[in-house]
Amino acid sequence: MNAYLIEGSSGYALVDSGLHTADAESVLRAALAEAGITVEDVRRVFVTHLHPDHIGMAGTLERAGAEVVMHAPEIANARRMWSRDHSMIDETYAWFERHGMPADVDRGMRDAWLAMGQRVDEIAKIDEAADGETLDLGGRRERVVWTPGHTDYHAVLVDEAERILFSGDHVLPRITSNVGLYPYSREDPLGDFLGALRAVRSRQVTRVLPAHGDPFDDLPGRVDQILAHHDDRLRATLDALGDSERDAYAVCRTLFPVLRSAHEERFALAETLAHLRYLERRGKVRELEGLPARWVVL
Ligand SMILES: [Zn+2]
Ligand SMILES: [Zn+2]
Repeated sequence: MNAYLIEGSSGYALVDSGLHTADAESVLRAALAEAGITVEDVRRVFVTHLHPDHIGMAGTLERAGAEVVMHAPEIANARRMWSRDHSMIDETYAWFERHGMPADVDRGMRDAWLAMGQRVDEIAKIDEAADGETLDLGGRRERVVWTPGHTDYHAVLVDEAERILFSGDHVLPRITSNVGLYPYSREDPLGDFLGALRAVRSRQVTRVLPAHGDPFDDLPGRVDQILAHHDDRLRATLDALGDSERDAYAVCRTLFPVLRSAHEERFALAETLAHLRYLERRGKVRELEGLPARWVVL
């Protein structure tokens, strides 16, 4: 996972923060030391989205004096996801059960997610940034752009002067971002994601700084590959249903035969559901009532 240090005329800022483990914290401190500064020198941290590898250490930076900033509507979701009542996690547990996830796998999913919460700092105050707003990060001007799909209110930063895109998890060089449907999600996360990819493709950008993997230059080329990937996955989803009625978990295990962890199980089922929802919204499949809910091709 990459966090980016921005140095400008008025100091230092970070884009994303890393999961809060002892290792990640020493890596962050060492990287700042290499730049000749300490955590106390970071004035602001912009968090692209609520996932633990991005928001995890933001509270540590806050306690060292930084302001934490996020796209405004992502803040409430972040608060809820990492709250002690873990209502989002419990809601997801029931939702996955309805979609055919076996009880033991579902319990493992829930436990792994709760354990992840231990690696996310509490944050006292998160400042709101609006879609389209220009933020001052260390004295540089960075435009906040809403890019829904990976999470509902994920946002990237566009440095229009330097033609740099801080792409968060929206556009990644080697892997495709997980796009999942959850009970609390917006209606059609995959539709959101593909629309946001097409929109970001036309940005005048010559360098992309992703949150995972190495920086790269060809934004339109990479966006086209990801769009083609989802076309393939939508076709594969229809093929996995064939002419039978299947629950989403069964479809998921055809699409993802090898799943190595509880987190992978969650991402795979949520991703399958996002593809099914996308197809449903476009009249290609239908969800049938029942427990588990089953899906058919129209
Ligand atoms: Zn993420
Ligand atoms: Zn990430």
